[in-house]
Amino acid sequence: MTIKNDVLNRYLFDDLHVRGELVQLKDTYKDIMNLHDYPAAVSQLLGELVAATCLLTATLKFEGEIAVQLQGDGPIGYLAVNGNHKQEMRGIVRLSTDTDATTLRELVGKGNMIITIRPDQGEPYQGVVALEKDTLADCLAHYFEVSEQIPTKIWLFSDNEKQQAAGCLVQLLPDGDDKEKQHLDFEHLCQITNTIKSDEIFTLEAEALLYRLYHQETVQLFEPQQVIYQCSCSEEKCLTTIAQIEPAELKSIIKERGHVDMTCDYCKTTYTFDEFKLLPFLNDIKH
Ligand SMILES: [Zn+2]
Repeated sequence: MTIKNDVLNRYLFDDLHVRGELVQLKDTYKDIMNLHDYPAAVSQLLGELVAATCLLTATLKFEGEIAVQLQGDGPIGYLAVNGNHKQEMRGIVRLSTDTDATTLRELVGKGNMIITIRPDQGEPYQGVVALEKDTLADCLAHYFEVSEQIPTKIWLFSDNEKQQAAGCLVQLLPDGDDKEKQHLDFEHLCQITNTIKSDEIFTLEAEALLYRLYHQETVQLFEPQQVIYQCSCSEEKCLTTIAQIEPAELKSIIKERGHVDMTCDYCKTTYTFDEFKLLPFLNDIKH
C-alpha cells in the first residue's frame, strides 16, 4: 500500500490540550530535487526541511508565507525552503564545496536557523536560533521553546532513495487550567509519537498511522490539505529586481546581448526581457 501523495493532516486530542500534525511527501520531494543534482545527504536534509516547513506553515493562524533558512560555515553555505498557507513549497541549497558529509553539523557547520514569517496582512517578523542541536527536528523544537515559548516536538524523516519525506509535530495548546496534567499528557503523547518508524510514515495512510499510534486516545482528524511544489517566481518579481539595476548598466547589457535574462535559482526558469519590456527602466538615460 502506498500513501496518498503529499498530504498534510492536522489533528487534535480530545480533552488533552494537545494538537498534532502529520505530513507525508512524495511528488513534492521529487519535484524539488529533480531540478538539481545535490549529493544524497544534501537532498535528504533539504527533504527534512521541506517537511518541517509544511509543519510550520500549518501552525500559522493567518494567511502568509514562511521562509526557513539554514546558514553556516559548512559545505552547505545556504539552505532555504519557502512555504505558504496553501502548502505550496519550494526549496534550494547552495553548496560552497562538494561534500560527502552526512550529519547536520558536518553539512551546515556552525550557523543559524532563520525563520521569517510574512503574513499577507501585516508586518513580517523573524526568529533566529543557533544550530546547536544534532538534528533539524531538535533545532526546530529549540526554536519553538525560545521564540514562541510553546512546548513542541517535531520528528522528521527523509529518504533520498525512496524520494520521500515526512514529519510529525506535537504541540501543547496554551489554554487549560491544570498545567501539570497538560504537560504530563504532552510528554506521554510525545513518547508514543516517538515510536513512529520511517517505513510506517512512508507507507501507511494518515488514518492508519494515527490509529496505530494513538488508538487509546480520542483523535479528531481535520480535513487533509494537499501539499504541492510551486515556485513563487514571476516576471513581475524579476522586474522588481531589475528596477534596482542602474539604467546605464541595463542599457549596456541590452547593447551587448539584445536582452536581459534572469534565471530563478529555485526552479531554473529563465525570464527574458528585451528592450521593449525594459523601457520603463531605461527612461532616465541621457542620450
Ligand atoms: Zn522559480
